[in-house]
Formats: sequence, C-alpha cells, structure tokens
Amino acid sequence: MAHIVILGAGIGGMPAAYEVRQELGKEHKVTVVTADTYFQFIPSNPWVAVGWRNRDDITFPLAPYLERKGIDLITQRVDKINPKENRLELANGESVTYDYLIITTGAKLMFSEVEGSGPHGGYTQSVCTVDHAEHAYEDYKKLLDNPGPVVIGAMAGASCYGPAYEHVFILDTALRKKKLRQKVPITFVTPEPYIGHLGLGGVGDSNGMLESELRSHDIKWITNAKTTKVEDGMMYVDEYDRNGEVIHKHELPFKHSMMLPAFKGVDCVANVEEMCNPRGFVKIDEFQRNPVYKNIFSAGVAVAIPPVEKTPVAVGAPKTGYMIESMASQTTRALGRPSAWLTLATGARPSSPCRKSPRAT
Ligand SMILES: Cc1cc2nc3c(=O)[nH]c(=O)nc-3n(C[C@H](O)[C@H](O)[C@H](O)COP(=O)(O)OP(=O)(O)OC[C@H]3O[C@@H](n4cnc5c(N)ncnc54)[C@H](O)[C@@H]3O)c2cc1C
Repeated sequence: MAHIVILGAGIGGMPAAYEVRQELGKEHKVTVVTADTYFQFIPSNPWVAVGWRNRDDITFPLAPYLERKGIDLITQRVDKINPKENRLELANGESVTYDYLIITTGAKLMFSEVEGSGPHGGYTQSVCTVDHAEHAYEDYKKLLDNPGPVVIGAMAGASCYGPAYEHVFILDTALRKKKLRQKVPITFVTPEPYIGHLGLGGVGDSNGMLESELRSHDIKWITNAKTTKVEDGMMYVDEYDRNGEVIHKHELPFKHSMMLPAFKGVDCVANVEEMCNPRGFVKIDEFQRNPVYKNIFSAGVAVAIPPVEKTPVAVGAPKTGYMIESMASQTTRALGRPSAWLTLATGARPSSPCRKSPRAT
C-alpha cells in the first residue's frame, strides 16, 4: 500500500486527486492536504470583481466531493515540506507522511515587490483569489459613486496576462451598462513588449486583435511598463524601449486599479531550495517529477517554466487551465510507470500502484 498526498486543491490539485484515485487500486491511500475548506474557480474572479457573480457561484466545499470519491482530506496549511523524511509539517503542529507527493500549491502573490500595491495595505486591487475579487468589488462600487480614471494591468514579472485583458474588457462593459463609461478613462499597463504578447510571444494574431479591441473600446495602453510604486490614487510607471532604457516616466492618477502581481512559489515549497528554481517554483522533468526528489511531482502554477523569450521588462510564461489539467494527467500516468516506483527516495519498491497495466506516456 502506498500513500499519495496531493498538496493543494485548486485547478491542479483537484484533477490530480480525482485522476490518481481513479487510476490506482483501492489498497493505495490518496489524501488531499490544503489550506482552505473550499474549491474556488479562479478564472471566474474577474466577474466577482464587478458583481456579476458572487462567492457561492464560484466556490464549493471540498469535503463531500472528495469523500464521495474515497479521497481523504486534511484542511490545514502546510508550513514545511521535509522531503528527506517524506513528511509534511502542518500549521496545527501535526504531520503527514507520504510515499508520493504531488505539489499543486499555485503561487505566492508578490505584492511586496511593488511598494503600495495589493489589497492588503496597498492601493491596487487583485482578482487572484475570491477574497481579493470581493474586495475589488467593494472598491468598484466606490468608483460607481465617484467615477474617475482606472488603471488595469500587470506588474513586471507577472506570468498571467489573460485575466488582465479579460478584466479590462469586463470593466469596460460593466461601466457601459451603468452608463458611466464616458466618465472613466481607462489605461492598460503591462510589462509585455507589445499588446497580446501574453507571456507567449503572441498567439496567432493576438497582437492585432487585442490592439484593435482596446482601440475600439477607447482603452489606452502602455507596454514595456514597469510599475515602480503606487500611492493612494497615483501609480508610477517606467516605460522602457527595446534596449532596456527608460524612455518615459508616467504618473497615472486613478480612482480604481486592478494590477496582477508577479508570482513566486509558496513558502513551504520555495524553502526546499534544491527542489526549486530561484523564484521557488518546482523543477520537473518530462514526467512532472522533481529531478532531486523523485517521489515528488508537481503540476499547475507551482511548476518552473522559463520565460519564452528575453524582454526589456520581465514577463513570465503563463500556466493555464487546460495545460494544468494535462500536467495532472501526465503526473498520474507517470505514477503508474514502474520506473517511478524504482526511484523512490527511500530506495524501497512498493507494489505497483497501477490498477491496470501501466499506461504509455
Ligand atoms: C484571475 C485569474 C484568472 C485566470 N483565468 C484563467 C482562464 O480563464 N483560463 C485559464 O486557462 N487559466 C486561467 N488562469 C490561470 C490558472 O488556470 C489559474 O491560476 C489556476 O487557478 C491555477 O491552478 P493551480 O492549481 O496551479 O493553483 P491554485 O488554483 O492557486 O491552487 C493552489 C492550491 O494550493 C493551496 N495551497 C497553497 N499553499 C498552501 C500551503 N502552504 N498549504 C496548504 N495548501 C496550500 C491553496 O489553498 C489552493 O487550494 C487564471 C488565473 C488567474 C489568477
């Protein structure tokens, strides 16, 4: 019998848990360890931020759904991963041992990299969690009462641009519906070298299409932009040229702002330095497996993926939903491979966890 622990219950963790449970024989135990008692569908957060959805629409409690599938659940924050002892240390002082660990902890949101940013003591909003989106909605309601300029976008080093574009167009529509759009000048601020780069060097005609949409919705933009500081109602942005020289220093007044932060790996993951890249993301091989600790796998935003190209301002590569679910499937397949079992850190070789013959990867 082996114990497979999935750390995190987001878009990476839930499919990983379901797939591993489905694939493995009943003699193996599957446990999800996660900080929250509920699943949140993060892609819907921009809708919460303008009141088109609420928390109940986009969250559900984990326990009944996992229980129904025969998956154990521990709702505790993990403070430390001890990979040499195959053990997780929990916030309540207890610990959980594992034979195999799948890390799907998403990102630590690095508001601290830009002074004055973020919803916790800063002046910009976020849609990265449902809590943040609710906070953003409260700020949006103040904008409706007292309209003025809006700044939407992403901080240098962010690796998630789709939601910034989505949010700016959602806000544009919401304000039009309220007949307030003409009172709200909108500026889109992004470290991308051009509109529609998306951290991917563009996707098809994303540059042309998104520029056209921004123009036709009367949304101005600044690319190659590094936000250096935010004060109450004022954002300071350096604009770079392609040689990496600052060509303009912008001061952007705002009444409401949503800026996606850069990401890092969460502390308990990043603290296992030999497992991670310098930003604290888990290094993986083609089987989603960490090269140092071969009984540790990772999927989702927690994995290390290098930027696709060098840009004047740092732009990370995105990890999106379909890609993340594919990583979870690949992890499950890799777990079914006998080679994965041969390389257990303990040197032991438990019986194959695969209910059926191992699938080809
Ligand atoms: C606003 C936004 C919108 C997006 N929209 C789209 C979209 O439309 N389409 C798309 O394809 N992608 C989208 N993405 C990208 C991606 O799909 C999401 O970021 C996705 O939620 C990432 O899944 P994940 O499982 O890697 O991380 P998360 O969903 O962040 O899950 C992380 C899990 O780990 C847990 N955790 C973290 N630290 C600990 C700890 N120390 N102890 C215990 N548990 C811990 C958390 O509680 C959580 O359960 C969006 C991203 C954002 C931020």
